Order: sequence, then structure tokens, then C-alpha cells
Amino acid sequence: MFWGWIVNVILLGPQGSGKGTQAAELETRLGLRHIASGDLLREARELDTPLGRLVKKYYDAGELVPDDVVIELIVQEINKHLNGQGVVLDGFPRNVTQAQALDKALASNGSQIDKVVELVAPLEVVKKRLTGRLICRTCGAVYNLETKPPKVPGKCDLDGGELYQRPDDTPEAIEKRLQVWAKENEGLVNYYQSRGILYKVDANKPVEQVTQDIMTILKRDL
Ligand SMILES: [Zn+2]
Repeated sequence: MFWGWIVNVILLGPQGSGKGTQAAELETRLGLRHIASGDLLREARELDTPLGRLVKKYYDAGELVPDDVVIELIVQEINKHLNGQGVVLDGFPRNVTQAQALDKALASNGSQIDKVVELVAPLEVVKKRLTGRLICRTCGAVYNLETKPPKVPGKCDLDGGELYQRPDDTPEAIEKRLQVWAKENEGLVNYYQSRGILYKVDANKPVEQVTQDIMTILKRDL
């Protein structure tokens, strides 16, 4: 489907709010390019380009990739899709400093973030989803005791591999991550609200309903 105009979107929301799932839906249905910051960095690392080699250097040293490098990768991706329908960012920016730097970089490329959609879910719901998460040791497929249980308990549907819980998915670790997230998110929400491009969606609904709500927002006033 092609709607004839370009929209660049950021999805905000805590881990477990379904950002990745919704971004993938928007890619399938609207042709928006889904840019997950984690995937973007993993892909860049494999590339034999100056930027790719730089990312690899940070990875190999076990260091965080600096914001300006991540932003340059994102701007490159957006430029690649200028004739498409735009992008949906998932996992970046994580704080106001990054958001401001991204806006500046996009502006100097004649581009911009058009809409920011915050997926709002009660933290209790998110915690439950995150503590129920199980991963296949063989293929990395992700299951969830709450929302997507495996057919046979403890075994991967795809290859029968053993399912395990990530060590950083304990209730204590999740609680800590969500606290850090909430603080950063508040700043981001205020920032995009002051730009007049922030929209909220109730993410505590079936996936299909949430997708419909987001699409309604994206199509509005265009
Ligand atoms: Zn598997």
C-alpha cells in the first residue's frame, strides 16, 4: 500500500509495551521502514564502511556506541527511504539530549520527525509481560507465558529447543529498568508535547486494536 506521502514516526513506551510488534505492523501495512536501534547497530557492525568499522570498534571494546554515530546511521537510513513512506523509529531516542540531536541532524538533511506515538500501558501489566518472557536457546525465538505461550511447556515450537529466562528478566532487574525508563520517558514526552507532535495510545488492548489506533493517528491531519 502506498499513501503518497511520507511520515517519520517515533514510537515511545516501556519495554514490554509492544513497540517492536507495532513497528513491524506499521512496516507491513503502511510500508514504513522499521528502524530498531539495536538491529541497526548490529547490521552496521557487519558493514565494511567507515561508519560500520567505527561501530565494530566500539562493540569490540565493549563500549556504548556514541549518540552521534547512532544518529548518523539513522539519518542515512532515512535518506535511503526518502522516496518511500518514511520510517518508524523504535528504541531511539531514549532521552531528550538524543531527541534534540536527532532533530538537528534531520533538519540539516531537510527532514523531520512528524509524529511521536506513546504506547501507554500500566507498569503492572508491562512487568507481568516481561517476567513471563522466555527465549529459545537454539534459535532465539521469543515466547511469553502471558501472551504467547509455547505449545509444549519449556520447548520451542520451531525446533524443540530449551526455553530459558534471560538473567536480566528477574522482577528486581525489570523494576530497576522501568524506573530508569520512566525518568527518561517523562523528559521525552514533555519535549515532544512542547513541539505539538505527541500522541498517546492505550497499549493495554489487543495488538490489532492498538495498530488501528496508531494508524488513525498517523493518517490524521495529513
Ligand atoms: Zn527455537
